[in-house]
Amino acid sequence: AGGDAVAVIDRAVATADGRPVEVVANVGGPGDVDRAVERGSDGVGLFRSEFLFQGRERPPDEDEQYAAYREAAAAFPDGRVVVRTLDVGGDKPLPYLDAPEERDPFLGVRGVRRSLGPDADLFETQLRALCRAAADGDGDGDRDADSDGDRDSDVGDLAVMIPMVATVEELDAALARLDSVADDLADEGVAHAVPETGVMIETPSAAFVAGALAERVSFLSVGTNDLTQYVMAASRENAGVADLNHPTHPGVVRAVARTAEAGHDAGARVAMCGEAAGDPRLAPLLVGLGIDEFSAAPPSVPRVKAAIEDVDAAAAERLAERALAAETRAEVEAVLDGDG
Ligand code: PEP
Ligand code: MG
Repeated sequence: AGGDAVAVIDRAVATADGRPVEVVANVGGPGDVDRAVERGSDGVGLFRSEFLFQGRERPPDEDEQYAAYREAAAAFPDGRVVVRTLDVGGDKPLPYLDAPEERDPFLGVRGVRRSLGPDADLFETQLRALCRAAADGDGDGDRDADSDGDRDSDVGDLAVMIPMVATVEELDAALARLDSVADDLADEGVAHAVPETGVMIETPSAAFVAGALAERVSFLSVGTNDLTQYVMAASRENAGVADLNHPTHPGVVRAVARTAEAGHDAGARVAMCGEAAGDPRLAPLLVGLGIDEFSAAPPSVPRVKAAIEDVDAAAAERLAERALAAETRAEVEAVLDGDG
């Protein structure tokens, strides 16, 4: 059964042999949270906060952001909403930010590089809003509404995720900002909590230092859209290199495998939130590589859940071993199709 014929699966899913896998949604615009709920998502694995900043003349202030994050968390009382801090630059400019024209915007000042540089004030405002919204979560970070911490469980947990990280220093600086924002809120007597933290793995460097990154956060989330374009040196926007810009190339598969292994060794959860996570054909490979959480566009959530329930995790691990031995994209895809 393909596409929209797959019925919504409201329950949390596991592989056929019982390994729990979270299937959550990517949210990138108004209405996506509702669509995610309708499609049976367990939570939000990527809240692309850029959309709150687009199509307007000035950035949303702290209260407006607080309301947006709290509303998203309230839609998933038993789940988690992972808010990615502002990821502008590259393909995502904002007219009211004065950013110099760059010759290579995808290799320029984007994501966390802006947050630690020219957009430091915006970053601080966003972290304040997130810490305030996190105060309303139940604090247990899981789907079980009955195992609350002390806090109110009508609202799910929030997590904060840092995009476009290439170095440990960037992550340390971003986490230090989060701590200092929490200290400020404490000094001001404002209700807040420090949200769980994660880092996107979107650059080859991040994949190579994934272990060190994972030691500093609760989760990694592989952003295959950017990771693929950077591993393959093939733009995600250039049709002329579309064949190279594909997650089944062995270089990308190996980068994902490395990330998952290093993340798990450091005790971190390993998610995937790039488009690859929404492709049911890739589900056995990704489970086999160790992906614990799949975050996909809301319409894809039901078919990813259905695909996970069909996967046998032990068989998927053997499939992943074969895919990791493959030398070409064609060989990886032959493994996926059961001919390898
Ligand atoms: C990614 O790069 O895979 C990702 C999920 O982020 P975005 O598509 O928003 O760049
Ligand atoms: Mg990205």
